[in-house]
Amino acid sequence: TSPRPYNFSAGPAAMPDAVLERAASEMLDWQGSGMGVMEMSHRGKEFGAICTQAEADLRFLLAVPENFHILFMQGGGLGENAIVPMNLSRGTRADFIITGSWSTKSHKEAQRYCTANIAATNAADQHTRLPDPASWRLSDDASYVHVCSNETIHGVEFQELPDLAALGSKAPLVIDFSSHVASRPVDWNRVGLAFGGAQKNLGPAGLTIVIVRDDLLGHALDICPSAFNYKTVADNGSMYNTPPTWGIYIAGLTFQWLRAQTEGELTGMAAMEARNIAKARLLYDFIDASPFYVNKVDPSCRSRMNVPFFLNDESRNDAFLSGAREAGLLQLKGHKSVGGMRASIYNAMPLAGVQALVSYMREFERSHA
Ligand code: PMP
Repeated sequence: TSPRPYNFSAGPAAMPDAVLERAASEMLDWQGSGMGVMEMSHRGKEFGAICTQAEADLRFLLAVPENFHILFMQGGGLGENAIVPMNLSRGTRADFIITGSWSTKSHKEAQRYCTANIAATNAADQHTRLPDPASWRLSDDASYVHVCSNETIHGVEFQELPDLAALGSKAPLVIDFSSHVASRPVDWNRVGLAFGGAQKNLGPAGLTIVIVRDDLLGHALDICPSAFNYKTVADNGSMYNTPPTWGIYIAGLTFQWLRAQTEGELTGMAAMEARNIAKARLLYDFIDASPFYVNKVDPSCRSRMNVPFFLNDESRNDAFLSGAREAGLLQLKGHKSVGGMRASIYNAMPLAGVQALVSYMREFERSHA
């Protein structure tokens, strides 16, 4: 089969060929069971084995400590914007660090459930740099502090998670890691809860991953739906209601694929982090060296996953995109709220895909400058 085009979608996004091929080969009959995964009871032994393995592989990959629960839920990132305050806020106060569109949405939604305080914002910088943690005005009594650790639209990433304890806060840190989950290791010493939709780096839309420290369970507001009560979900091993079985299966295949990745001596998350740094550097270095393209994000917090960029002459946007499609480079159009272009280069994007993009950009510049 001929290689597929490189797909730079921000999500749902490209998946590793090996994962899709494996799923295709098992579509009608999973390992001699006579059933496809979509057709299995979530309570049967076959799916039980798939789910247990997926959870164990994710725990291994992200080095999730024993006192954290891994939950497979539904509702997506925006669902979690309500589910987190319903479970963690106790109706009191929570702090939000505004760094782009997604944290802005999280803050707005939380206002329905608690006093949502903006402790810092980079809005005045058009979301192009992170507010210095030393300047955050954290509440003494916050039930949690929310951060979007990778802003998918603005292309801003926390290269290092904030250390709330060092900032004098006792509140647990909540991270929305939807768009960089499993692209690098997680420092769990600094995190109380992490959530993310699967549809960028892990699998199909419909699966939401929540990783939560056990002391944060059991404080949900009465209005919290049972299916979204973390304690209920945890007590039932993510089987309180029917979990997104297909998503868990595909994410499980992706976890196995990730575990097997290597870069030199490195494996798993360390390998992916090294590869993702190399991919991002190649693209940012090219953009910075060119007078034809621009990325406006401060180099200290540029996302390794989502690279928004602009042509200096925006009248060439359509020509750029149609030429890219012809060159086998798909879905490079930027988010409508910021315009321009965006190359999302998640785990499934090989270095060769970024090299192909840079070659195309160089050639487009040469022929249009
Ligand atoms: N948070 C982030 C960082 C995202 O990138 C997205 C989706 N682009 C969301 C939340 C929303 O996720 P969903 O569409 O699954 O609700």
